Order: sequence, then C-alpha cells, then structure tokens
Amino acid sequence: MSEAVEYDVVVLGGGPAGENIVDRTRAAGLSTALVESELVGGECSYWACVPSKALLRPVLARADARRVRGLADAVQGPLDTAAVLAHRNYWTGDWKDQGQIDWIDSIGAHVYRGHGRLYGVRKVAVTSPEGEHHILSARHAVVVATGTRAVIPDLPGIAGARPWTSREATSAQEAPGRLLIVGGSVVAVEMATAWQALGSQVTVLARGPGLLPRMEPFAGELVAEALREAGAVVRIGVSVEAVVRDGSTGPVSVVLEGGETLEGDELLMATGRAPRTEDIGLDTVGLPVGRWIDVDDTCRVPGHDWLYAVGDVNHRALLTHQGKYQARIAGAVIAARAAGTPLDTAPWGAHTPTADTRALPQAVFTDPEAAAVGLTLAEAERAGHRVRAVDYDMSKVSGAGLYADGYKGRARMIVDLDREVLLGATFVGPGAAELVHAATVAVVGEVPIQRLWHAVPSFPTISEVWLRLLETYRG
Ligand SMILES: Cc1cc2nc3c(=O)[nH]c(=O)nc-3n(C[C@H](O)[C@H](O)[C@H](O)COP(=O)(O)OP(=O)(O)OC[C@H]3O[C@@H](n4cnc5c(N)ncnc54)[C@H](O)[C@@H]3O)c2cc1C
Repeated sequence: MSEAVEYDVVVLGGGPAGENIVDRTRAAGLSTALVESELVGGECSYWACVPSKALLRPVLARADARRVRGLADAVQGPLDTAAVLAHRNYWTGDWKDQGQIDWIDSIGAHVYRGHGRLYGVRKVAVTSPEGEHHILSARHAVVVATGTRAVIPDLPGIAGARPWTSREATSAQEAPGRLLIVGGSVVAVEMATAWQALGSQVTVLARGPGLLPRMEPFAGELVAEALREAGAVVRIGVSVEAVVRDGSTGPVSVVLEGGETLEGDELLMATGRAPRTEDIGLDTVGLPVGRWIDVDDTCRVPGHDWLYAVGDVNHRALLTHQGKYQARIAGAVIAARAAGTPLDTAPWGAHTPTADTRALPQAVFTDPEAAAVGLTLAEAERAGHRVRAVDYDMSKVSGAGLYADGYKGRARMIVDLDREVLLGATFVGPGAAELVHAATVAVVGEVPIQRLWHAVPSFPTISEVWLRLLETYRG
C-alpha cells in the first residue's frame, strides 16, 4: 500500500447523493476525494431515474396527445421504438461519465476510480481496475454513499434464467416480444408502461393486494386499469414459485403458486433493493456488514463522529431527491463542524437540521401519473392522528377537462383535524406529477387550511383541484 493521501473529506460512491456531498464540501472550501467503482452519476443517471424517464416521456406525451381532439388522429401510430431508445441512450451519455468527471474537475475535487472500502477510522482503501492501491485519509469526514442493488429472490431455477433487473430494463437496446414483470411497485409499473408502449406484450405479476402498495389504494387501481387498457395483462395477488429457462436464447417461464405456467421472452424481477454494504469495510470500524446504515438527522453514524451515510444506503428514502437533500444537509453539517461554527449558520437557518421523511414526495411516471407527499390515510390513522380524507374526482376540474378529453383522475388530501393542516396529499391523473410540489409546500410549511384558501390556483389549470378539495372539506 502507498502512503495515505490526506483530504478533508472522502466520499465513497459517486451517485447523486455522493456528488452532492462533493459539491457542498467543495463549496465550503474543504478538499474532497470521490471514490467511484463504476460511473460517476450512479444508478440514477445510467440505470434508474434518467433512462426510465427518457423511455417514459414519449409514451406519456403520446398518451396526452391522443386525448386532445384535433391532434389525436395524428398520433395514432406506434412509437418509433428505435428513436425512443436512441433518445434514452443520449440521456445516459451512452453510459459514459465524462461530463460528470469534467464537472468534478471543475470544482477542484479528485476522483479515484475503483472499489473503495473503509480501512479503519477515517481511512478508505481504493483498488483501481488496474489493481493499484491507494489509501485516502480524511481529516474531517468519510461519507458512505454506495446506494443499492436489485434484490432477486432465491427461487428455484432463477440463476439459470438470467432475469432482468432494473439495469437491463432501463438499458435494453430492443423491446422483448413478451416481457414478464414480477413485482407491483414503482419500477414494475413504470417499466410495464414503457415496454408495453414500445412494442412488448407485458404481463405484470404482483403478489400484494394491489399495485403501488405504498400509495393510496386508488393510485394502484387507476394505474392497473390503464395498463390493462393499454393491452398489458395485470395479475394481482399471484406468487411466482419457480422459473425455468432452457438454453441461452429460449423463452423463459414462471410457475405460479397452484402450478400455472406463463411464458415470456424476458423476465424482469422488480422485487426490491438491498444496500451495497457487503464489501465496503464496515467491519473495520465495528459496524455490521451487508445492512442498511443507521444515521441520525444529520446523516452521521451514531458512535462514529467522522462517519456519515447519505442516500439510499441509509434506507431513509430510496429516492434521488431525498438523497440529494440529505447530502445538502450533511455537507453543510460537515462544513460547520470542520469550521467549529454552530449548525444554525447552515442554509436552513435556526431549525434543527433533519433528513426527515415526514413530507416525502414521490412521482410515478405511469399513464396516469401518480404523485404523493406525506402520509396516506392508512399511515395517518396508524400514527394515531385524528384525520379526514378529502377526495375529489379530478375529471370535474375544468382545467383537467381542457388538458385532456375524458380526463380521468382522483385527488385526496389528508387533513389533521386537530391542527387543520395537511398531513398528506395524492394526485392521480395525466399531468399529476407537476401538482405534487404545491402539496409538499403545504405539508412542510404546515400551512393552515384557512390560509390555503388564499393560495389561488390559476384558471384553467389542473391545480384548481385545490379549490375543489377545500370546498369539499368545508362541505
Ligand atoms: C428503475 C429505477 C427508477 C428510478 N426512478 C427514480 C426517479 O424517477 N426519481 C427518484 O427520485 N428516484 C428514482 N429511483 C431511485 C434512485 O435511483 C435512487 O434513489 C438513487 O440512485 C440513489 O442515489 P445514491 O447516490 O444513494 O446511490 P446510487 O445512485 O446507487 O449510487 C451509488 C454509487 O456508489 C458506487 N459504489 C457502490 N459501492 C462502491 C464501492 N465500494 N466503491 C466505490 N463506489 C461504489 C456505485 O457504483 C454507484 O455509482 C429509481 C430507481 C430505479 C431502480
């Protein structure tokens, strides 16, 4: 091993969370090294958010256009699959990260390519693809941002079946003829929406009682109905017991509980995520290997005043925007602690910094889109709040009707009856993803319902659903 190279901060993993830490610590004048074993930009840029949304945007734009009289006839044909895939390739930079490397260089941080592992207190060992070894030592902080990988359940036959994970589903260079998708959460429904529109015959096999189980039940119901209308098969409450694939190019079959067999050309296992913490040296600092990393509200690991974990790996919220939020907080905290200044000089002011999940927003880019923030009715009730769910049929909003002929959608807000503030909101319908930030402001700001009456939505926008929700609440 060479002599240790010293930095103020060493970041392990260059996904969106790691990149944002680097950005914040460099902005504070701290010398920073970033260790990345694959591509700077992480899962999000190459095999998750960005390619999936690049695939879905033409699908949703065509669906919207087909709901506008005068335009619908012009867009009845199939999508140009090759052009959509090329558009997706463009957005991933053809799986090259030179743009991100240039940006890191421009802010004066150093990138080490290779596999990084903690190497005792405040140290990270890096093994480059060429087999070179470096030891990096951190004066102030080491930040773990190694993200997650797909989990594939250990079903009989699964190893030989070469199933797709989200990586293949977002990077495939042609549409499979028949695509079986196991799972009912976001990755499953977004990829079902994309590949069904790009020419595959999709079958979704969800084990739970409905799709999108973390949202209000009507979200999964409306998405399932629309997937079926688009020609996909959606089966709820089914369990896959075994997988069979003969040969290297042949079809793949899944055996359901009860013995029924379904055949496809590819099989996507959208069955959850696990932390990438098996081989990052957590044992060298006395932490359990292969688990999610527990952190406090500044993303610091309890008992280790130099160690932080941001993004997916701490399991607070498996979403890019939340990982970036945590990185902004942890970056400012690291800078304040390094300078010996109080934390309330950070950009969020005098409030205790918190990588909270109370007002977590999420948008699902299916057709219809589903977007939500905060608590669902079931979650609010479980948490012991005295609440009322206020529902509105979005097809009755004139802005929605002008947006799309036959607009179908539903909105719900969860009102805390004791404080008369919103605890959560859900919107399902075309264009719904852009509605959720207003709800996030209301939930985070704890804006009293009476005050919301004075937040006037423009006419004729879909946001007028806010007025209708307030009127419905007043009764
Ligand atoms: C199909 C799909 C679609 C998604 N769509 C969205 C979306 O639309 N919006 C959204 O907010 N979220 C979305 N997500 C979730 C989002 O991708 C993650 O929340 C986000 O990527 C997490 O960022 P991260 O920086 O924590 O980790 P990652 O993006 O996973 O990055 C971790 C990085 O660490 C590197 N690394 C790991 N181990 C080591 C090591 N030992 N040494 C060096 N480097 C290492 C990895 O190579 C990787 O580059 C989606 C996820 C999937 C699977």
